[in-house]
Amino acid sequence: MSTPLKILFLASEADPFVKVGGLGDVAGSLPNAILELGADLDVRLVIPFHSAIRADNFDLHRETVFTIPREGGEAPVQVFHTELRGMPVYLISGDPFSRATKVYDTDSAVDGEKFVFFSLAALELARRLDWRPDIVHANDWHTATALYGVRRMQDDPFWKGVKTLFSVHNLCYMGAGSEAALTAYGLPPVNDPELPWWGQHTPMPLGLWSADEIVAVSPSYAEEIQTPEYGCGLETFLHSRHDRVTGIVNGIDTTSWDPRTDEALIEPFSSEHLSGRAATKELLQTNFGLEVNNSVPLLAMVTRMDQQKGVDIALDALRLIPKLNWQAILLGSGNSEIEATARRLESDFPHRVCTIIRYDGKLSRQIYGGADMLLMPSRYEPCGLAQMIAMRYGAVPVARATGGLRDTIAEGYSGFLFTDASPAVMAGALRRALKAFGLHRTWQEMQKAGMSGDYSWFVSARQYADLYKTLIHNSSQE
Ligand code: ADP
Repeated sequence: MSTPLKILFLASEADPFVKVGGLGDVAGSLPNAILELGADLDVRLVIPFHSAIRADNFDLHRETVFTIPREGGEAPVQVFHTELRGMPVYLISGDPFSRATKVYDTDSAVDGEKFVFFSLAALELARRLDWRPDIVHANDWHTATALYGVRRMQDDPFWKGVKTLFSVHNLCYMGAGSEAALTAYGLPPVNDPELPWWGQHTPMPLGLWSADEIVAVSPSYAEEIQTPEYGCGLETFLHSRHDRVTGIVNGIDTTSWDPRTDEALIEPFSSEHLSGRAATKELLQTNFGLEVNNSVPLLAMVTRMDQQKGVDIALDALRLIPKLNWQAILLGSGNSEIEATARRLESDFPHRVCTIIRYDGKLSRQIYGGADMLLMPSRYEPCGLAQMIAMRYGAVPVARATGGLRDTIAEGYSGFLFTDASPAVMAGALRRALKAFGLHRTWQEMQKAGMSGDYSWFVSARQYADLYKTLIHNSSQE
């Protein structure tokens, strides 16, 4: 039997230990999904021991203690070990994390110190375990420094020949403010004019520069980040590396997101029993002061209230179609100005619009299972999970054709796509969607098309596993 390929998977958060956003979903599912392929892979996950992690909930064992060099001395590292569905998980602790109160801080220098420390400690851990990875797989800027570390240690027999893969979940967050930490831990700027000057000492660009393979979280996002509109200033560099940039769409946890078993729904349903959705729609209409009528299309948003998500575009688009028959539920929180604009729509359209400013997992499930359409007019969307959940629950997405939205929604088949980030263009897509809603058979066919999609991690895990193998195969040919 051949020895399994060893993958050191690094992330700043992973469900169920700690989850702030979509990255937590990915790191909590993907490594296990890769292992479950049974494809001769040994994957180990390393995350920081954030203070938000409730140690009592997990069977943690002290693994090892060591130090890593830091300006003016040594930085102590403590490592704990546990398992997640049979996969080894290591949690790294040390002063930067004991001091921190939040997973992500508003002070970029605080996060710089945390994540540079984490990245280098995770590499040193592999050496201490005498477990030489074949591939280090980092995710977003927080762990990008590890790839720069591997690249700089190519004279070290332990790291020589180790390959690196970098998944980009959101290019815009680069880790600016980490310069002092990089210097303190002995990592100078990279002196390569290929990178813009501002990126020569910043984790995200350094990770991209170091990586043997770059994976964006959808094929469209992989293309988009090579253009000025989406490239955040790194488009020229990324384009020069286009032969190493691919896209792999994320999955969702299809066990947790299943309308046949979801206890938040009033009546479970499936694509053969779509009428079961009506009971949850009625609950939403009743609870939120909307006319209780199954034939009025219920539009919804479940979103962070952030400029990225284009909430303003949706609100203005709805204002352009006041004469059409629709109701809307907006669930989200975030930017206070966007929240206020959403509230204004409710006061201008009483009994037709309900705005709920909070994070509410149970209500989100009821919205996916009861609303007729999910609106996602994102200005950019690396992958997006909400549209996949909506389709799995029979809510038809009306979304901007960008990134993962473009790759997961089939126009006129499982949803409605529009191109320009403008209210007028979105209003056009809404008109088309509302017309289709009135055609009962057409609408049911669209719902069923969305519900029959495979949103599981299996497909993505397979693609990552193939990529790991290609990387190793190619390096053996070098
Ligand atoms: P992003 O990670 O950019 O916020 P995604 O679409 O990838 O967007 O994932 C968002 C996830 O967060 C989805 O599962 C969505 O249901 C959930 N979500 C967003 N806002 C809320 C909210 N206010 N209440 C409950 N769930 C929310």
